[in-house]
Amino acid sequence: MQYLSTRGNDAGRSFEDVLLAGLAPDGGLYVPEEWPNFPKGEWRGLRNLSWGGVAAMIMKPFVGDFLTGQELHALVEDAQATFHHTATTPLKQLDDALFLLELFHGPTLAFKDVAMQILARMMDIALMRRGQRVTIIGATSGDTGSAAIEAFRHSSRVNIFILHPHERVSPIQRRQMTTVEAPNVFNIAIEGDFDDCQALVKAMFNDAPFRERMNLAGVNSINWARILAQVIYYATSALALGAPDRSLCYVVPTGNFGDIFAGYVARQMGLPIDRLVIATNVNDILHRALTTGRYETGRVVPTTSPSMDIQVSSNFERLLFDALERDPSRLRALMEQLSQSGGFSIPEDARAYIRQLFASGRVDEEAVRATIRETYEKTGEIVDPHTAVGLHVAQEHIAPSHMVVSLSTAHPAKFPDAVEAAINVRPPLPEHVADIMKKEERFTVLPADLTKVEDFIANNATTA
Ligand SMILES: *Cc1c(COP(=O)(O)O)cnc(C)c1O
Repeated sequence: MQYLSTRGNDAGRSFEDVLLAGLAPDGGLYVPEEWPNFPKGEWRGLRNLSWGGVAAMIMKPFVGDFLTGQELHALVEDAQATFHHTATTPLKQLDDALFLLELFHGPTLAFKDVAMQILARMMDIALMRRGQRVTIIGATSGDTGSAAIEAFRHSSRVNIFILHPHERVSPIQRRQMTTVEAPNVFNIAIEGDFDDCQALVKAMFNDAPFRERMNLAGVNSINWARILAQVIYYATSALALGAPDRSLCYVVPTGNFGDIFAGYVARQMGLPIDRLVIATNVNDILHRALTTGRYETGRVVPTTSPSMDIQVSSNFERLLFDALERDPSRLRALMEQLSQSGGFSIPEDARAYIRQLFASGRVDEEAVRATIRETYEKTGEIVDPHTAVGLHVAQEHIAPSHMVVSLSTAHPAKFPDAVEAAINVRPPLPEHVADIMKKEERFTVLPADLTKVEDFIANNATTA
């Protein structure tokens, strides 16, 4: 399988290339040349396999000769061992036709662990083969940073530096990053807000001499390997609920459009998914895009589901590319408008393509609180605010014709204040992370100053 850029100026890349590159040099996102498709009989055959066995079969057509099926299987099982549930990503039935897919049993209590644990192991192999080292830098307002740190803490070829806004992330989220004791892990608390952190990371990537000297790499949600790894749980859950002989609807709390795009990939591969529903909080660029046809950035409003507080949904570009019949010149024109005027109108044919599969819903803070409360009262389940955004939208999509799977993307204990405000119960941290409140923290406070941050990274990455 070879990969090409959505912007049309890069093609013929291997899986290993796109794994290490992240973003394409022309600013586009990598997509496979074509979507592999399994016939029904092959899907039925997967029903008898373990989670790791399904994972290997799903990823095999995409990785080419990077890893054999057996190697993939072993790698995935090693990643699974960091999870604290025997089913890895268990389904929980809430109602006749409504299921929660729990994706938060990994080391940092959010769904990003699934893909990050797999990605880190793949990167280690690629770097070993190439005899290279990389410096991963990233900015985080919460879940990504801790998932990346947990995943790369044992990598001998990676130094990882995560920037977070000083005194502006929740104590649990900060401690999940700063209590990890590993010589290759560095936390930088920036005197500024999340935008300052992001601007610094961007500036470092744009500083070509620094980027080359440090061999910078990114692991944000546009990395193709992360999306691919997320296809696994669509497959395992659909098979458990009777696919390919039964069709399903998935509701996905959405920010950067990575997780839900994995659902689109699963459907392109032949799983009978007849609806993919985008659930957004009040930062609703995707919901507006689907309902009005205008994709237009606004100002970010902070909510109780901070991992979905975004202005631009980067991975939406991958869906647009297919919706525009993979015509890179049409896509480039839209992206040009986005960067110049902050928005574009989705062409009618593309909008029709998107709407035949995707639906959307928007949930405000009051509805989030009500959903956490009602779910607790009706089922006894405590859900986090991101999951509640999905569940609220899911109620609107219950239909006799299909079962609905709503993705549960974070453990409620990760957002205890919002949960407590809704139900007067403070969800306790699971045992495997309970000790972070006692462990010693390690981080360095730096001003939002490019030179100072680059110096810190250069000094520490080389000696580590
Ligand atoms: C990152 C995140 C999301 C959004 O996922 P995308 O792939 O960016 O759409 C939703 N919920 C939680 C808890 C997250 O950490």
